[in-house]
Amino acid sequence: MKKTLFANGTIVHADGVKSQDILIRGEQIISIGKNLESNADTQIIDCKNKLIFPGIIDPHTHMGIPIKGGFSADDFETGTRSALNGGVTTIIDFTILDNDQTLQESMYERHRLAEVSHSDYALHCNITRFSPSLLREIPKLIAHGIISFKVFTTYKEAGMMLTYEQITEVAKVIAEHNGILMVHAEDDAEITSALVPLMAENHVEPFYHGLSRPDSAEELAVKRLVAIAKETGCKIYIVHLNSEKGLNAAKKQQSIFIETCPHYLLLDDSVYKRKDGRMFVASPPLRKPSDSEALWEGIINGDIHTLGTDHCPFCTADKKEGIPFQNIPNGMGGVETLFPVMLAQWIVRDLPLPRLVELMSVAPATIFGLHPRKGEIAVGSDADLMVVDPKNITSSWKGKLVSVTDWNAYTEFPAIFPEQVWLRGERINAKEFTRDQKSGKFIHCN
Ligand SMILES: [Zn+2]
Repeated sequence: MKKTLFANGTIVHADGVKSQDILIRGEQIISIGKNLESNADTQIIDCKNKLIFPGIIDPHTHMGIPIKGGFSADDFETGTRSALNGGVTTIIDFTILDNDQTLQESMYERHRLAEVSHSDYALHCNITRFSPSLLREIPKLIAHGIISFKVFTTYKEAGMMLTYEQITEVAKVIAEHNGILMVHAEDDAEITSALVPLMAENHVEPFYHGLSRPDSAEELAVKRLVAIAKETGCKIYIVHLNSEKGLNAAKKQQSIFIETCPHYLLLDDSVYKRKDGRMFVASPPLRKPSDSEALWEGIINGDIHTLGTDHCPFCTADKKEGIPFQNIPNGMGGVETLFPVMLAQWIVRDLPLPRLVELMSVAPATIFGLHPRKGEIAVGSDADLMVVDPKNITSSWKGKLVSVTDWNAYTEFPAIFPEQVWLRGERINAKEFTRDQKSGKFIHCN
């Protein structure tokens, strides 16, 4: 079986940065250490002056989802191609539960759509309807390698919301079977009471999107979820947390895991007043600079556990429609820019690199049951890794992205793209992928 030696490099582990070689055979890492020996048929990759990172896990993507009569711009093929170009070797996407479907039917349908993936993928299961028969399916999904279940405390009008009482019932079943509950935490009633006066005053511009979904909605929902975690013992993962108030309610609470996204760290609601303001419409909305500062503190000190992207991109033409602001297709891209932009921030801010690996690889792998196969450069793990030149920081985005979208939220930020990306022992050239070249596998969570 083919062997490859990554020699003379510096590996970024979650517990430190070490000068070590990596030997891989087939799809797996078989040895890590100083001056590893190779034989004549071993391919050698010289990594002198280079950093080696584990492949990134994006625990929050939405490939090809139906929104407002259309679809988000990326399907599993284009989305995972751009994921790999940015160093994301595994995505975790969501099933979509249609009206009459069982959870298992929604799972099989998502698997069919994900077959074209280039990166590896795992799935979370959306529960956007409440019924006892759906709850009975939870252990079956877990047996199929899907251990995380997502509910919404909002989108009542779209028929996706569960009440806090229903969420408590879901949490009890998940806890019993050792799964994890994910929640989009914005209180629906709080949003309605902010939205109604804005509508009455006929405010239609994108800027009001932010005002219509206040931080108090997140804070309120998070407080309810903290209580549900205590009552049921269920692990609860709060997706895309983005306000200082929300963070204060969620941090250091028993069984609560917190995810935020790069856009909440790097952008604030002033962008809604820009000419392209509607492009930044996503839910929850961008907030104040003071919220971003609080999130950065949580990122650095460990109060926030993971970074996800909530990847759901649209082209400028798709976002042009939509007056009032509620009709703008909701979402932004991010899977391809996640690592390049965050690594550049890490270097510019002089932050410890192991923390980046903890946030973007080890923690999502551990929380969602992919560890030790994924998330770490370790003997026995999949050989998912990146070779990176940390000096290769650029402000020019020209020719860097393979995304099918025509807009990128981060053009004003520097980036460091990986020089090489390896998925299960194979070097990836995302720029040359064709649609029928599926290299991704479904990864069981357990
Ligand atoms: Zn999402």
